[in-house]
Amino acid sequence: MNRNVVSFHYTLRDPAGCVLDTSAGGAPVVYLEGAGQIIEGLDEQLRGLPVGTKTRVQVPATRAYGARDPGQVQSVRRAQLPVEGKLKVGDQFQAGSDRFAPVVTVVAIDGDHVTLDANHPLAGVDLSFDIEIVAARAATSEEMSHGHAHGADGHGHCQ
Ligand code: ZN
Repeated sequence: MNRNVVSFHYTLRDPAGCVLDTSAGGAPVVYLEGAGQIIEGLDEQLRGLPVGTKTRVQVPATRAYGARDPGQVQSVRRAQLPVEGKLKVGDQFQAGSDRFAPVVTVVAIDGDHVTLDANHPLAGVDLSFDIEIVAARAATSEEMSHGHAHGADGHGHCQ
């Protein structure tokens, strides 16, 4: 199966129309189609779009960062947290020492008890992307075997 390495610019909005993130003014996103490098619902809907296409793509939460899981919210004692200094609602940190530990968000503080939410910040949020396809080329066999894009516009191989 032939797959492409695609570069695109995006502006991401939530259902209220607020901009959550954008690549404008920076480098485009570069990804290998069908490799899980971008969210599934976006990967599917960008498939086969010609270079130069500007379009709006709606991705429901279930095809993006998933539904919110109430089981991912829990209360812990302040002293158990690996964070120095003062905590406030909205703070985010890794819930463990290894670099793959999930990022948690502080959602409430009540005395010595801190409520943490390990859901992705965009879990349960329907997403709207304004997309511009800026480049597309056939993936190399090496990219296909690695499952990601390479090159100056892709990622290096230090990680
Ligand atoms: Zn690689």
